[in-house]
Amino acid sequence: MNDTLIKDERPMTASEAVAWYFDRAADQLELDPSKREMLKMPKREMTVEVPVEMDDGSLQTLVGFRVQHNNARGPMKGGLRYHWEVDLDEVRALASLMTWKTAVVNIPYGGAKGGICVDPRKLTRKELQRVTRKFIDQIHEIIGPDKDIPAPDMGTNSEVMAWMRNQFEKYHGFSPACITGKPVEDYGALGREEATGRGVGILAFKLLNRLGRRPQDIRVAIQGFGNVGSHAAKYMHESEFQIVAISDVSGGYYRADGINIPDALRYVIENKSLEGYKEADKISNEELLELDVEMLIPAALGGCITRNNAERIKAQFIIEGANGPVTAGADPILEAKGTIVLPDILANAGGVTVSYFEWVQNRQYYSWDLNRVRQQLDSVLSKAFEDVWQESTERKVSFRTAAFMIAIRRVVRATELAGI
Ligand code: NAD
Repeated sequence: MNDTLIKDERPMTASEAVAWYFDRAADQLELDPSKREMLKMPKREMTVEVPVEMDDGSLQTLVGFRVQHNNARGPMKGGLRYHWEVDLDEVRALASLMTWKTAVVNIPYGGAKGGICVDPRKLTRKELQRVTRKFIDQIHEIIGPDKDIPAPDMGTNSEVMAWMRNQFEKYHGFSPACITGKPVEDYGALGREEATGRGVGILAFKLLNRLGRRPQDIRVAIQGFGNVGSHAAKYMHESEFQIVAISDVSGGYYRADGINIPDALRYVIENKSLEGYKEADKISNEELLELDVEMLIPAALGGCITRNNAERIKAQFIIEGANGPVTAGADPILEAKGTIVLPDILANAGGVTVSYFEWVQNRQYYSWDLNRVRQQLDSVLSKAFEDVWQESTERKVSFRTAAFMIAIRRVVRATELAGI
């Protein structure tokens, strides 16, 4: 499947690949085998049947998952993905990434993830709502504001979150903090929508700053122009990066003297996708990855940079907007070439950070203005970036290993404090 971390390097599955990254960091920490086993194993995995009546009266039975990986540092947190390639192994991988992500940015959560194996584009709005409500019927007992708080991911959005909250509250009463990523006028947070992409831009900027480079000298290619890719493009365009290529499922669009991002954003609002965008040359998504640019931002599917194309990647910097875009087979190749990779568990943590702010606001029955959200996001990500930079410099390890080391240390400490 597209989202696996290592689709071309069998027999390692997506969750095994995350475990492989984990082990490299655990080796550095000299973590004993029994603790490794405990930290790798999910706390709970739930597979549920989701029977749905379709608009034509027929019955379709879907399968849904919720994996709760770890709650040593707080309630578990992670998105719900609706995609035809969702399976238990992928959800398991993404749930553990959430544990390490929340720990790297030091917000008081553990990690979880869920999803339904379904193509949401093939459902009507009413069918989508029935699927969502049925799914919550099946998992409502194991989620909640102090247990496990879902959020949007690929194929779900704020409207789906509003239905989820409504269904959850039928069982448990008024509880806006049970879900994040809700519509702003329905207990959502200002700045949540832009948060992941903005975070990608903020971190790219901090990395360059540390290296004494200027955004004006950095040509950027962005794969994916959805929530993460488009907001990253907007922020980076405003920060004077030269964005020379963008893409979506319809293909890639390249313009050597820079894409007019406000124009492309308008085009997507009017046309729903970049299909037919004439202001740049059409290229393939594969070609986009291999462009002669300084910075590459994969912000669509996992598993797009593999052992097969890693050698041809020219970018000096890869900022992982997507979850798991670099396979475990590609990672050592990039490292040997000197490519600097800002790993997903740091690079795309802006979304879960503002989800945390939403949860805090819901629990206080209070709303922050957009400036406060942006300032706090910048502050959390700056601290996390400096922690990872320092760990990486001191221990002479990649940013990925450094980020995992910080995260593992924090989760181990919380586990020990609680008494295993
Ligand atoms: P999205 O559905 O909003 O956008 C996905 C984009 O990728 C779309 O532009 C789509 O056309 C494009 N795409 C789909 N298939 C493609 C293909 N084969 N080649 C190139 N482009 C393709 O999803 P999103 O929320 O932007 O998520 C993107 C990635 O970021 C996912 O890996 C997700 O897990 C990760 N992520 C998202 C968030 C968030 O807050 N949304 C947070 C953390 C991580």
